[in-house]
Amino acid sequence: MKGRELLMIPGPIESDPAVLSALGQQTSSFVAPEFIAIMGDCLRMMREVWLSPDGQPFIIAGSGTLAMDMAVVNLVEPGDEALVISTGYFGDRYEDLLSRYGVKVTKLEAPVGDVPDPADVEALLRQKRFKLMTFTHVDTSTAVRVDPIPLGALGRKYGVLTVLDGVCSIAGEEMRQDEWEIDVALTASQKAIGVPAGLALLVASKHALEVWKDRKTPVSNYYADWKNWLPVMEAYEAGKPAYFGTPATNLVAALQVSLIEILQEGMATRFARHAAISEAFKNGMSAIGLGQVPLNPQTAAHTLSAIRYPEGVTGAAFLPAVRKAGAIIAGGLHSRIKDEYFRVGHMGTANRGDLLTTVGAIEEGLAACGYAFEKGAGVAAVSGQMALDGV
Ligand code: PMP
Repeated sequence: MKGRELLMIPGPIESDPAVLSALGQQTSSFVAPEFIAIMGDCLRMMREVWLSPDGQPFIIAGSGTLAMDMAVVNLVEPGDEALVISTGYFGDRYEDLLSRYGVKVTKLEAPVGDVPDPADVEALLRQKRFKLMTFTHVDTSTAVRVDPIPLGALGRKYGVLTVLDGVCSIAGEEMRQDEWEIDVALTASQKAIGVPAGLALLVASKHALEVWKDRKTPVSNYYADWKNWLPVMEAYEAGKPAYFGTPATNLVAALQVSLIEILQEGMATRFARHAAISEAFKNGMSAIGLGQVPLNPQTAAHTLSAIRYPEGVTGAAFLPAVRKAGAIIAGGLHSRIKDEYFRVGHMGTANRGDLLTTVGAIEEGLAACGYAFEKGAGVAAVSGQMALDGV
């Protein structure tokens, strides 16, 4: 008995044993030469994972919401205008967050399961002078993936800073921060980065740092102020000790191992593997007659899937039955459709064996709920997926 079920929720995810082993090593001083070297290494590797050779990385103790906070609070001042592009729960969170700092928010909301049309974004940018716009690369509540390329280009064209919430995308979905002209790209440790929760990670462009340096009022959040953290990040990269707030040393040690593994796989291979796994999972679901929340397969995420329940199946009966069959998956999150779908994360360490177990457990859960389907068809669709060979 291994005594545990497979964790397949869209974050936190299961970490590689080498990552967990690094986390369990004796805690070091945050000014010890060994820790300074680890932190410097992580900062340099983040530039490679974010594909942002010119960016300034930040590694701070906190969750993804702190990364969201830090990404914008350094750039906005009370009275500024911001455009929030929302494809679900986490897009909406940016509306709340920015309003708290006295920013005037215009929200462009895509219908549930759909993506915003860049033409509608451009129409808004023409109407008003925005300081910043935010969008969620993959909204974890809908599994919708927004294309950052036209949004980055629009940001440059209209002189508007772009903030990409990549909590459910970075290190899984293709994201090329510098080439795509994204000003701040943020994530957290517990998703495709593959480290337990507790690190807020973001990379700011040179342009974002210039805008921050030019601000007229103090940053409204003490802990998230780049003034406190930039000298610390710069010192660590230069191999020198520095302090503002105690870094999560064990998590940073685990991050180093995970980033090395990510870069050993290679970003292009990693993006392709996530796409292949996602396609296999989604094919497995359609083979047993289940549809998705994203309206268009082209804009469905590769890091997770949001799958609609068939007629007569409820989360209250289905989710515990899937767990009993060996896999932990998540219920719905978007308030408007919460009870109509479930979510499965397949990012980071997820492999072919995990998919087979999960789809098998989903089939058992559906059977327990009385849904009539061809048993084994989902598993067969996954195992027949040639693209998964070697995954
Ligand atoms: N943005 C997205 C897209 C997320 O999926 C999440 C977490 N699920 C967050 C932001 C917030 O991150 P955290 O829960 O780590 O604060």
